[in-house]
Amino acid sequence: MTGVVRTTGLLKRYGPLTAVGGIDLDVRAGDRYGFLGANGSGKTTTIRMLLGLVHPTAGQIELLGTHRLPDALRQVGAVVEQPASYGHLSGRTNLRLLDASGPGGDRRTRSARIDDALELVGLGWIDRRPVRAYSLGMRQRLGLAAALLRRPRLLVLDEPTNGLDPQGIREIRELLVRLNEAGTTIFLSSHLLSEVAALCTRVGVMDRGRLVLQDQLEALGGPTGRIEVRTPDVAQAAALLGRAVAAADGTRLLVTGHDPAGLNAVLVGAGVRVEHLAAERHELEDVVLAAAGAAGERAGAA
Ligand code: ATP
Repeated sequence: MTGVVRTTGLLKRYGPLTAVGGIDLDVRAGDRYGFLGANGSGKTTTIRMLLGLVHPTAGQIELLGTHRLPDALRQVGAVVEQPASYGHLSGRTNLRLLDASGPGGDRRTRSARIDDALELVGLGWIDRRPVRAYSLGMRQRLGLAAALLRRPRLLVLDEPTNGLDPQGIREIRELLVRLNEAGTTIFLSSHLLSEVAALCTRVGVMDRGRLVLQDQLEALGGPTGRIEVRTPDVAQAAALLGRAVAAADGTRLLVTGHDPAGLNAVLVGAGVRVEHLAAERHELEDVVLAAAGAAGERAGAA
């Protein structure tokens, strides 16, 4: 896999405070990478370092295969704060000014790129109304359109759905999936596990400045090594399975094992009525909390 964002020992101190404590990010081409963490865990500081807005105290950043950040940043689109805009001007005019002010915005293709970007974010219909008359959702979209103007290979978004209603959140999510499927790698921060679980393919978890977990989402929701069984014949099943039963309550049993089909055959063969049987999977929330908890303990012991 090609590396899109790679950091080594990336560190930022503000006086005595370590905001980001030496992290090794690994974002690969095609990822929808969710950068998770509680408020103050260091996400925004990390993003600002990636975008060249904050100077790292130590460590290295490789973006799109190069250490020369200004070069790489031409191919990066970002929405990091409340998208800046001139409230009295229209969305289109704002995008035109923005494109004209930055590096590498080719004038000849400007109108077409603006139309494409507006279309992509679902604002193809906008009229000449000034941006100050936009809803919050429209402003967020305009910010995204601005980030998309240069047709970036990497899109970096800090809390992209902050302040949006459920409908707006869903629309942004669908848009990001579409962009990603068209080839854009996406790196977004969030403090909401549910948002990351619904959208992302890979996740990095920050806790007090440390990256305590980084993996494919799929791998994190793997089997626990137990099988969940629901049956009205709990006592009979428990007697049959003996020490393999890890837990039982009501009509539910958790049985140690990796072979649901085999277990089903054993139970049914013995006349136990099986209503439901499936490998138990790790809940993402538990995995994240456990990683943060373990890191906290290590920090406490150090
Ligand atoms: P949030 O979701 O609240 O934005 P975050 O995970 O993005 O949180 P950061 O904003 O990166 O976290 O902040 C990490 C830590 O660094 C916090 O303790 C914050 O107070 C501190 N910090 C951030 N910027 C500065 C600064 N310019 N000067 C001093 N401390 C700072």
